[in-house]
Amino acid sequence: ISPGRLIIVAYRLPFKVVRRDDDSLAIVQNSGGLVSAVLSLARNAHYAYFDPGEKVHWIGATDTSFPLADQSILETDEFIAHPVVIDEQLHENYYEGFCNNLIWPLCHYFPSLARFKDEYFEAYQLAHDFFFARVAEVIRPGDVVWVHDYQLMLLPAMIRERFPQQKIGFFFHIPFPSFELFRLLPVVWRKAVVDGILGADLIGFHTNDYVEYFLKTAWLVSGHNNKLHYIHMDDRMVKVDSFPISIDFEMFSNAYSDPETVSKRNEIRKSLPLKIIFSVDRLDYSKGIIHRLRGFREFLTRCPAWHERVSLVMVVVPSRDTIQQYQQMKFEIDQTVGMINSEFGSLGWQPVIYQYRSMTFAELLGMYTTSDVALVTPVRDGMNLVSKEYVASRADGKGVLILSEMAGAAAELGEALIINPLDLHNVANAISAALDMPEEEQIKRMTLMRERIREYDVFAWAVDFFTQMTMLEMEQTRLN
Ligand code: UDP
Repeated sequence: ISPGRLIIVAYRLPFKVVRRDDDSLAIVQNSGGLVSAVLSLARNAHYAYFDPGEKVHWIGATDTSFPLADQSILETDEFIAHPVVIDEQLHENYYEGFCNNLIWPLCHYFPSLARFKDEYFEAYQLAHDFFFARVAEVIRPGDVVWVHDYQLMLLPAMIRERFPQQKIGFFFHIPFPSFELFRLLPVVWRKAVVDGILGADLIGFHTNDYVEYFLKTAWLVSGHNNKLHYIHMDDRMVKVDSFPISIDFEMFSNAYSDPETVSKRNEIRKSLPLKIIFSVDRLDYSKGIIHRLRGFREFLTRCPAWHERVSLVMVVVPSRDTIQQYQQMKFEIDQTVGMINSEFGSLGWQPVIYQYRSMTFAELLGMYTTSDVALVTPVRDGMNLVSKEYVASRADGKGVLILSEMAGAAAELGEALIINPLDLHNVANAISAALDMPEEEQIKRMTLMRERIREYDVFAWAVDFFTQMTMLEMEQTRLN
């Protein structure tokens, strides 16, 4: 099997435009787990999944501020970017509408927030035509196309129809819900989505549960049965499996002793000489921010001995806050924090230190490596990378992770204190147990979790996906 090129299709193009010293424009790739994993795959000729002489092609949406006219500046040393321009009106109904007002809440078990509008689905289909046009321009026989996430669920089948022999992978980055949630989609839409995804050869989810839910949905919506995760279509075989996405473990672990992290850590310790419970997440109803606050309040009510001795540092990263639902949620968070601080705080002690802003990498690492407890309480989360980053950055082996059972990461991080975020007594008990946990036990739990993430880091994740693609192709060739 001769290797072709790797073509990534994801909603976002991971590049920003910079102006060079000579005033010319250039693009540089953003940092991020997926980008580094893809790069390491493509660079490492050892795996031989792709032609090592070829750059990675990345197809993704952008706005008109991107330097579209000049193809030469759309290349970096490693990537070639192919921008898909989606105008504002279409973007509104496609991305804000179908993706974020319908698929996101449904997949995160918030059906009451889901909006079902015909113009959303029309825009979703139309946006796919734009992505597909780019794919059709770029694609060559032998290339592997890797499609990502809920913004592009129709694309695998569109590619399959025009290019039946193409190797196509699909990865879903959010939870795939149980059929009872998925069936709320109108009949035509849900069949289009399932058949769209089934256009791929290999379909990946974060956990076995999501795999099972998808397989059941594929059967009930499209009549495709499976045998041990293989679906036999008329002309080919589809495999569905779990690939829990991960992080660059070494980068986080090594960052523990970066001079910048050390200096941030010292700065934080000096200004906050108490026990620290840390949380950081985007503003989103799926993150359980209010539940976290309620659990912390319950803990303060029950454990007066901890008053003046511990603070919850809660950073919420601004996201989607032009949407009314999100503004309302922020208002509720502001209010709840105010109530807890006025109820329990004193002149010298603020129980909740709340910031609504994004953090630099050094600040994040400073907080991860100095916090006694990380409190991660999503009511639903595809994976949750923050929990893995906390563990990876604790090269000292200390610290306690409290993790919601509703996060995909809970399937791998069983040594965390696993909680149900909706159960405020459970959260309060876990906080108290975490603060009292002897160092020896902290290290025992951390060491096991660190080993697991070290072994299956984001590079192993990507290699795992493409190893299975290759094996599937070999099986397919054998069957033909
Ligand atoms: N993060 C960030 N900016 C910040 C703080 C955190 O980009 O100010 C990163 C964090 O390091 C993590 C990601 O955002 O990699 C959050 O990933 P997660 O899977 O926990 O949640 P998501 O936001 O993808 O739902």
